[in-house]
Amino acid sequence: MSWDVIIVGGGITGAGTARDCAMRGLKTLLLERGQPAMGTTITSTHLIHGGLRYLLYDRLTTHTTCWDSGHIVRIAGSLLTRLPILWPVYKDHAHGIETVETLMEVYDRFSAMKGGLRHLRLTAEDTLRLVPGLRREGLLGAVSFDEWWVDPAALVGANLDSARRHGAEVRAGAPVDGLIMEGETAAGVRCAGQELRSKIVINAAGPWVDRVARMAGARIPLRLRKGTHLVYGARHVPVGLLLETADRRYVFVVPSPQGTLVGPTDLAGGNDPDRVETAPEEVSYLLSSVRRYLPDFPERFDATIVGARPILGQAGDEKLLSREYEVFDHLSRDGIAGLVTIGGGKMSDFRVMGEAAADAACARLGVSADCRTHLETLSGEPLDPQVPPPQPSRAVKKFLRRHPRLREWHALSYLAAAYVRHLALRAYYGLSAAAQ
Ligand SMILES: Cc1cc2nc3c(=O)[nH]c(=O)nc-3n(C[C@H](O)[C@H](O)[C@H](O)COP(=O)(O)OP(=O)(O)OC[C@H]3O[C@@H](n4cnc5c(N)ncnc54)[C@H](O)[C@@H]3O)c2cc1C
Repeated sequence: MSWDVIIVGGGITGAGTARDCAMRGLKTLLLERGQPAMGTTITSTHLIHGGLRYLLYDRLTTHTTCWDSGHIVRIAGSLLTRLPILWPVYKDHAHGIETVETLMEVYDRFSAMKGGLRHLRLTAEDTLRLVPGLRREGLLGAVSFDEWWVDPAALVGANLDSARRHGAEVRAGAPVDGLIMEGETAAGVRCAGQELRSKIVINAAGPWVDRVARMAGARIPLRLRKGTHLVYGARHVPVGLLLETADRRYVFVVPSPQGTLVGPTDLAGGNDPDRVETAPEEVSYLLSSVRRYLPDFPERFDATIVGARPILGQAGDEKLLSREYEVFDHLSRDGIAGLVTIGGGKMSDFRVMGEAAADAACARLGVSADCRTHLETLSGEPLDPQVPPPQPSRAVKKFLRRHPRLREWHALSYLAAAYVRHLALRAYYGLSAAAQ
């Protein structure tokens, strides 16, 4: 038996790719060595989010992520829950409330693509009314925004169910331990002692993409970064919080039907994705970061989750790493036919990642079938085609990817203009931070 496409990896990227391939009529098999979603995907912050933070250095990734999150909101419907989040601003913070509100004014425009509500600026009193446990001393106020909470396992499961309904086969507990190489062509995979043949192998193994590419003699450079969350079985905050840490980073406190997550950390040390472990310092870092603002937040948590972010190899400072995704066609890149890798990205743009991987597979197969994953919900109901908002130019993105400092400058120049506009409007309407 043989397939048009074999996909290696049953995280959100592989699941979205399987759905896309199957909806285009490709005979599709997905192989996951463990259980679907149990790699990096389950260790995420559980948010379909637009990448507010990337506005500081990688504006076009925020744009793409919000753009695709808009599609995800439409197709995933009831799996998603709107999560209001407050960003409390204190006197000693790196960014003052005018800067934070400026950032949010810019984010509002992108976030609207995913059904985000416009931000609100709250006084210190209103902030404390909403989150009574917050430290009062030094609080200037807060700015609100919202993202979408999702159970990542349910999201992967719904994609795989949809893929199956469109004819795909999914095998869990199916480790790929080699590729069938016929000369310079990948003709399928070796999986648990079996040879499974296909015209195209799509490597969607998240932080393991380099391992799978090496099976064909190729490499995918990565800059993996590990991230830990504390998991609480109960809800400990009424709304989500984004908190500045003592070292000027940020952690989320995410309440959900499953309890509360606190995190993530963002550290080097994820080079072997099979060996990422939570260090005791990460636990104390997260606890002190949250208890700095919520002194009564419980110290006893129920578990930790840790994963390796599948960030693509790139030059530049670790704080400026782009979360962009990329499709690697190994024929044009390495002279290896039959192999495509989809790497990088976020859960929040998994649908367009699947589309890009399926486009590359179709191009090699000579199949002309358009992507339909945005035209049907994950449970199978048809959606009206909508005129989508424009996506950022791929050429500009590609250019900026090679020049991280320029990409940062590009992002900051927009923010600088927005800041001037923000201050001018506040002056015009006679508002000021002091007026609070
Ligand atoms: C701490 C943290 C927080 C994050 N928070 C968010 C967030 O809130 N929102 C967001 O959008 N993104 C978030 N991300 C990023 C997001 O989680 C990842 O980009 C995404 O889950 C990657 O999915 P994936 O399918 O590519 O990889 P994975 O989920 O890791 O899936 C890859 C799969 O491939 C399988 N595999 C590997 N090798 C083989 C093989 N040889 N044979 C068969 N199967 C194999 C693995 O078992 C695994 O299941 C976060 C990441 C981290 C680490």
